[in-house]
Amino acid sequence: MLSETIHLASEAWDSLMAGNRRFVAGTPQARALISLRQKLASGQSCKAIMLCCSDSRVGPELIFDQSLGDIFVVRTAGNVADAVALGSIEYAVEHLHSPVLVLVGHQKCGAVIAACSGEKMPSSNLKAIMEKIHPAVAQAKARAKGDELIELAIRENIHQSALDLLANSEIIRIAVKSGKLSVIEAEYELGTGHVVRLNAPGRYP
Ligand SMILES: [Zn+2]
Repeated sequence: MLSETIHLASEAWDSLMAGNRRFVAGTPQARALISLRQKLASGQSCKAIMLCCSDSRVGPELIFDQSLGDIFVVRTAGNVADAVALGSIEYAVEHLHSPVLVLVGHQKCGAVIAACSGEKMPSSNLKAIMEKIHPAVAQAKARAKGDELIELAIRENIHQSALDLLANSEIIRIAVKSGKLSVIEAEYELGTGHVVRLNAPGRYP
């Protein structure tokens, strides 16, 4: 059972990466969207759940060349996981049974750059995003400076989001522990279009 679900997870990830290769090459799959839309009207069963940054350059369906019904997407600035994001992901874990949860951050993430700069936020809502990113910035500051600091903080922040999901959601934690759900950390490269996996395959963390 466990090996079967891990197999499903790697199959789902392989399919996402195949889509990313098509996106990079500029050869997206042709899709019969009208018949697909009609078929999906009765229900969804998607291959992956994603928590992705809201940045307009990082649309998950585009960068992974996926279609209607393929991925259940939650997007927040800086791919941070607050209670509403967690609840949305929990819904997908409980009802859609996707084998993978992918965290998608990206190069030059404005939310992480703002958190690194320490600038004062003009609202409590913006401050809430920064507070989620600060632990990752602190981790990165211990090891890097300048542009390297931002790049490292972006990766730390993707990892931090994964840790937050596990720490703050029993539903996600149980799904991961039982092997039903694999967590994948990934970074999108703005210029090349490549998605790079950051954590090794296998159970998490
Ligand atoms: Zn971003």
